[in-house]
Amino acid sequence: MSFVIKLRWFFKERWKYYVLAISLMICVNLLATIPPKMIGNTIDQIRSGNLTASSLSQTVLLLVGLSLLLYVFTYVWITTLFGNSALVEKVLRGRLLAHLTKMTPAFFQRNSTGQLMALATNDVLAIGQTSGYGVMTLVHTLVGASVVIITMISLISFKLMIAALIPLPFLALVISKLGQKVRIRFLAAQASFGQMNDHALESISGIRVIRSYVQEDHDLVAFDKVTSEVMNKNKRVSMLNALFQPLTSLIVGLSYSIGIGYGSYMVFHDEITLGQLISFNIYLGMLIWPMISFGEFINVLQRGSASADRLDTALTQKADIVDVDAPIAVSVPERIEMQGLTFTYPTANHPSLVNVSFQLKRGQTLGIVGRTGSGKSTLLKQLLRQFPIEPGKLLVSGVPIERIALDQVKRWVAYVPQEHLLLSKSIRDNVALGKHDASPEEIARAIEMASFTQDIEQMPEGLVTIVGENGVMLSGGQKQRLAIARALLIDSEILLLDDSLSAVDARTESRILQHIRKERAGRTTLISTHRLSAVSHANWILVLDEGRIVEEGTHEELMLFGGWYREQWERQQMEASLEE
Ligand code: ATP
Ligand code: MG
Repeated sequence: MSFVIKLRWFFKERWKYYVLAISLMICVNLLATIPPKMIGNTIDQIRSGNLTASSLSQTVLLLVGLSLLLYVFTYVWITTLFGNSALVEKVLRGRLLAHLTKMTPAFFQRNSTGQLMALATNDVLAIGQTSGYGVMTLVHTLVGASVVIITMISLISFKLMIAALIPLPFLALVISKLGQKVRIRFLAAQASFGQMNDHALESISGIRVIRSYVQEDHDLVAFDKVTSEVMNKNKRVSMLNALFQPLTSLIVGLSYSIGIGYGSYMVFHDEITLGQLISFNIYLGMLIWPMISFGEFINVLQRGSASADRLDTALTQKADIVDVDAPIAVSVPERIEMQGLTFTYPTANHPSLVNVSFQLKRGQTLGIVGRTGSGKSTLLKQLLRQFPIEPGKLLVSGVPIERIALDQVKRWVAYVPQEHLLLSKSIRDNVALGKHDASPEEIARAIEMASFTQDIEQMPEGLVTIVGENGVMLSGGQKQRLAIARALLIDSEILLLDDSLSAVDARTESRILQHIRKERAGRTTLISTHRLSAVSHANWILVLDEGRIVEEGTHEELMLFGGWYREQWERQQMEASLEE
């Protein structure tokens, strides 16, 4: 039942198709009762010597015509019903992806990629099967069985029917018990399928690391364990599946014995004719399929609803960050301000930012430096609104950021993350990710600003070179500059550079920074870095340590202050001069 409730929207939308398919199935079932009756009649005619050539040929013609009609009807209902299956799969996959794009990092920490892939493949498939094949088996069972039973009663004998169907309730009982087991085992199988996905993903994407540490065999053994687990769990499901059919045959066999035994007795006592007995046994045979269908239906339904539950759990997880009811419109981010912001990651027990305050006017540059793990990336990420924060501590133009529409904030910000992410598309498409319709001139300009032009000239196919999965074809510095070009192309109000120049040499870095300063005059930039020369020009510099601001000021002030900043600066300058 929960399956129907969860897919209510779909059945509502497609009810016409279901009505068509089900009506045709009912017609097919009704029409299929005619031939046995005709056969029984003919036999009785033979016995009584009333059979004529014309009545025989009439019967044969009717039978042929009926088969043709059944053929057409069956074709139409099958394509209609299974078309629905394909459609529900398509729609659900679309919904899942749309949902995932709205989710924040916390969601992806809770749900691994492999499990999400399992949802999009196996689970969606199981749901599709239930809404096509499942419906078919259900209708077959209900209509098939009731049509046959009514015909038996009306044309032959109520007593015989009751006697022959005595074993059926047992069948129903056992099947429903089995069904519950199927559900439990199927859930376990799907979960381990997700784990297998995770493992495969990691092995493939981490193949270089695995090879360089000569861990192939170890990884294979581990993978073997996961796949065995999946196999065993699926075996446990199919062991149950295999029980359904023999069970049905057993019960139907019992029915047959009763039908033949008691039926013959009735023929002897002239309660029914021989023809009626034969018809009756053909009808009994026709009950096999609805019975098997019933088993299949329970089986498919249990799997479909298990999958629907799994999918539902993912789809009902709300984004941690949603728009407030009445967002305040801010046209331009004139000022960015933190007022004593303390921030703890949802999964952490220590805060990663403690009482951080600063103020940045439009057009200014903020530098963020500090030891590794001091909270630089965390500070930048606050402007991406990925995690819930204390209200009223981060303000844009004096308005708390959580009161501004999410889309608005996202439109302001261009972000170059510390771990760049490239798509396996061409360089051009990677750069134009945020602005698909950018003109060739705009793209060339962004690439020039990122000092990436020369590299592209040397590539086999220039701009249309495909960079491979996550940019495997590019060097670390090239990936970084591509990511910068991507951010510069959208010409945003706020630019966040998270250690984005760590893999390029100092000279290239200063050239890129110069371009950025010139091009982005009047707009705001936040730079986190380990190389202090990248922020020495900034209007304000924060030095973080364990999430706290320990020093702050302009480059000159910090040099005068003579703390961590000055010490680092001098060391880096010395290293640079030694290198030269
Ligand atoms: P680096 O210079 O190495 O890039 P960073 O200054 O950018 O370091 P952050 O990435 O901001 O440091 O991390 C600050 C602290 O927050 C670290 O102690 C880190 O372990 C923790 N942290 C970072 N990301 C998460 C997360 N998603 N969940 C929980 N803790 C996190
Ligand atoms: Mg960082």
